[in-house]
Amino acid sequence: MEFDFLIIGAGSAGCVVANRLSADAGSSVGLLEAGGPDNYPWIHIPVGYFKTMGNPRTDWCYKTEPDPGLNNRSLDWPRGKTLGGSSSINGLLYVRGQPQDFNHWRQLGNSGWSWEDVLPLFKRSESWEGQDDGIRGQEGPLTVSRNRVNRGIVDAWLAAAVAAGHKWTDDYNQEDQEGVGYFQMTMKGGRRCSSAVAYLNPVKHRKNLTVLTRAHTQRIIIKDGKAVGAEVRINGDVKIIHARKEIILCTGAIGSPQLLMLSGIGDGNELQDHGIKTRYNLPGVGKNLQDHLQVRPIYKCDASTINTEKQNPLKLLGMAFQYAAMRSGPMAMAASLGTGFLKTHPDLETPDIQYHIQPFSADKIADGAHKFSAFTASVCQLRPESRGSISLKSSKSEDYPVIRPNYLSTKTDCDTIVAGLKITRSICQHEPVSSLITEEYEPGDAVEKNNYDSLLNWAREHGTTIYHPVGTCKMGNDAMAVVDDKLRVNGVSNLRVADASIMPTITSGNTNAPSIMIGEKLSDMVLATYKK
Ligand SMILES: Cc1cc2nc3c(=O)[nH]c(=O)nc-3n(C[C@H](O)[C@H](O)[C@H](O)COP(=O)(O)OP(=O)(O)OC[C@H]3O[C@@H](n4cnc5c(N)ncnc54)[C@H](O)[C@@H]3O)c2cc1C
Repeated sequence: MEFDFLIIGAGSAGCVVANRLSADAGSSVGLLEAGGPDNYPWIHIPVGYFKTMGNPRTDWCYKTEPDPGLNNRSLDWPRGKTLGGSSSINGLLYVRGQPQDFNHWRQLGNSGWSWEDVLPLFKRSESWEGQDDGIRGQEGPLTVSRNRVNRGIVDAWLAAAVAAGHKWTDDYNQEDQEGVGYFQMTMKGGRRCSSAVAYLNPVKHRKNLTVLTRAHTQRIIIKDGKAVGAEVRINGDVKIIHARKEIILCTGAIGSPQLLMLSGIGDGNELQDHGIKTRYNLPGVGKNLQDHLQVRPIYKCDASTINTEKQNPLKLLGMAFQYAAMRSGPMAMAASLGTGFLKTHPDLETPDIQYHIQPFSADKIADGAHKFSAFTASVCQLRPESRGSISLKSSKSEDYPVIRPNYLSTKTDCDTIVAGLKITRSICQHEPVSSLITEEYEPGDAVEKNNYDSLLNWAREHGTTIYHPVGTCKMGNDAMAVVDDKLRVNGVSNLRVADASIMPTITSGNTNAPSIMIGEKLSDMVLATYKK
């Protein structure tokens, strides 16, 4: 098999690239995905993330190493393994980030990545159901809907945040992100709008596009400093697939550094330890790992929440009926309803924490909801300074890499998470939510009120990922950069990376929308190269 462009990984970014490059009927495009087709019904029902996360049919089910910053706990790290990648199992929350995130990328020397440069790509990708104001897009493939599920407890929390002096926002995807309000979702007609649904399904009939599922790429083949093909395991057989023009890695923040290292591109000393011949010594591969760590205060309350509604068989039946008949109700719910982008200090230029307000609670999502009525006011730091790494466990592609997130390893990160917990408590003391709260279940009385050390220790004991690993093949021009601002891998020609791994610094919010934008940007750059 041979294609002009070989795209590896059909996730948030990969599906975009497959769509845009195959729009040129003169180019042949191959898209390889390790997971299966996205025909598992729960992928498409919004609340199905409860069924797809932790399920090997749709999730790689990675685990981190015991993390010193989390009192040596190891975490489950889900990543989508199907067409659409993580956009097929994620919480559907749509957040672009702050203009300053992208202006910072530009300031790091990445030409073409400022807010002014990327705004047209965000607009081009989305079909926002709100108004056309010059900032939002309305004709793109990705449908972005307003929240459709209301729960009084979430409304009360948002009103309490306003009473506590925080701003209200109708649309945090404007250039000023600050404020509390309702989440927007990648959902179309009550069904998940993954990157595969938005970008791949409408074009999969194209004669010049070949999509192969259950095709696990083991290695990129490099000859004389040039990427020429991929070694791919398909149904137990290993095949070589050639690329005439370029190979584009879209295998995500864990898959892309792993695949580069397996192909001999990475820190030469580490590669040698695993008996891999170094093709190009690139010490930054797998470094610079960043993620959003969430801590999840839980409040028992005297109001209806999904916890209690789920226990009533009649209400459960009602939810199923409501979804079947109208594609609405709790089954059409994104992972959170309310949000807030707030500053922990008034002197900050932009928000540094984000809330995910959920009308349910659980000790661990996989364990199911609590039996009592409660809501969760999850808070995360938007721009952590802590940096972790992805490294190889062995030279075998089927062995998962070693994931070390290294959470809460700087003072700023510890201070910000503690400040976030204090802000949560202060909001919960305001009406109208305070009189609905019957008990602070977590952190609770066992954690000394507003004592820095005890709050920090609680965060270390209970903090968990909000599923946003990025940065492991960072774009830049310093010694640790992996790709340049055209997303070309340093030292190897005809090879680019386009996914969440190229972010030099994490964006201030959920990372699906920026990953899709990266796919759009890469496509423009590749098309421009070959137009010449
Ligand atoms: C459970 C969960 C919840 C989340 N919730 C949200 C949310 O609500 N909002 C939000 O904005 N973001 C959310 N995110 C994060 C967001 O979805 C990701 O940041 C984004 O999807 C990353 O896109 P990507 O293109 O980098 O990688 P992915 O979408 O993960 O795509 C990588 C693809 O490459 C494939 N692949 C990997 N290795 C190989 C190989 N060797 N050969 C072939 N194929 C391979 C994978 O199977 C996958 O399909 C969530 C993520 C998860 C996992």
